[in-house]
Amino acid sequence: MRVYNFSAGPAMMPIEVLESAQAELLDWKGGMSVMEVSHRGGDFVACAAETEALLREIMSIPSNYTVLFLQGGAYGQFAVVPLNLTAPGDSVDFVLTGSWSDKALAEARKFDLTCNVVADEKASGYTRAPDAGSFAATPGAAYLHYTPNETIGGVEFGYIPETGNVPLVADLSSTILSRPIDVSKFGVIFAGTQKNMGPAGMAVVIVRDDLLDRARTDTPSVWNYKLMAEHDSMLNTPPTFSIYLLGKILEWVKTQGGLEGMAGRNRLKAETLYSFIDASSFYSNPVEPASRSWMNVPFLMTNPDLNKQFVADAAQAGLTNLAGHRSVGGMRASIYNAMPIEGVQALIAFMKDFERTHG
Ligand code: PMP
Repeated sequence: MRVYNFSAGPAMMPIEVLESAQAELLDWKGGMSVMEVSHRGGDFVACAAETEALLREIMSIPSNYTVLFLQGGAYGQFAVVPLNLTAPGDSVDFVLTGSWSDKALAEARKFDLTCNVVADEKASGYTRAPDAGSFAATPGAAYLHYTPNETIGGVEFGYIPETGNVPLVADLSSTILSRPIDVSKFGVIFAGTQKNMGPAGMAVVIVRDDLLDRARTDTPSVWNYKLMAEHDSMLNTPPTFSIYLLGKILEWVKTQGGLEGMAGRNRLKAETLYSFIDASSFYSNPVEPASRSWMNVPFLMTNPDLNKQFVADAAQAGLTNLAGHRSVGGMRASIYNAMPIEGVQALIAFMKDFERTHG
C-alpha cells in the first residue's frame, strides 16, 4: 500500500514514474536493465542526452549555460563551488538563512578565502529571508552563495538577489523544478536530486560558461566543471540510474504542464496547508508569511509533549515522515512536486482529528 510520504528527501516520487521504471526494470532496451548497460553504449548516451535536453527545455536554460550531472550531492558542491570559482586569497559572500547556508559557509571556510557574511537572519531564529535590497555583494567577491529554500527551517526567498557583477550561486536543492525560474540571473545553480528530481546519488549543476575556466589546478578531476563538461559528465562512470530516473521525472513534469503547471499545483498545496495552520490555535508555523516555503512546511503544537504521538498516529494513518528535523524538533510536512493535493487534504483532516482528540 502506498502512503503519503512527507519526507524532506529522499522524497516521494510520482507513481507514473515508478511504474514506468518498474515496467522496464528487467528489460530496458534488450534483455537488461538500465543499471546493467554500459554508460558508453549508445542507448545510455542517448538517454543522458535526452535527459539533459528535457531539463534545458523545461527550465528554459540559456545556451551559454552547461548542465552537469555530478556525484557527491549538494553537500559536495559546498566544496566544489569554491574549488571551481576561486583562487587562494579571494573573498566570497554568504547569506545565512538556516542550516544549509551555514553548512555551505563552514565548507568554504576550510579554504584560503575571506568569507563575508553579508546577511544573517540568525537573530530571527532563521524564520525569514532578508528583505530584497537589504544586503549587497562585496565588490570583487568571487561569488555570492545563498539558499533559495532552507529545507529544515522552511524559509524561502520570494525574490532573486541582485548581485551586479558578482556571480550568484544558488543551492536550489529543495525548490528546483517547483516553479519557473530565470536561470540567466545565476552564475551557478546546483541541487541534490532526491527531492524534486528522483532518487539520491547525484547533483545537477548548471554553470554559466564564462565560469567554467576558473578551477584551481588541484581540483579533483571528477569535480572540475570544465573537465566534466568536456566529457559530458562521463569522465568516470556516472550515476546512470539517477540520470535515467531524472529523465522520467522530467517527462512527468512536462505532462503536468511544465514548471507553470508545477507552480500552480505547489501554490495551491502550500496555501491550503498554511491557511489551515494560520486559522488554528492548536498548530502554528514559525516562519514570516513572506518567507514561507512552498516545499517544506514546519509546524508546532502548543504542547510539544504531543509531537511524538502526532508523528506516530499520523504514520498509522498512512501519513509518514512528519517529524521535524532533529536539529529543530516539531513537525515538518515536505510537499514536493510529487505530493498530490489529496495528500495535503488528508494531512489536514488528520490534524483536525488529532486536535479534536488532544486539544
Ligand atoms: N542543501 C539543501 C538545501 C538541502 O536540503 C540538502 C539536503 N537535504 C543539502 C544541501 C545536502 O544535500 P545532499 O544530501 O544531496 O548532499
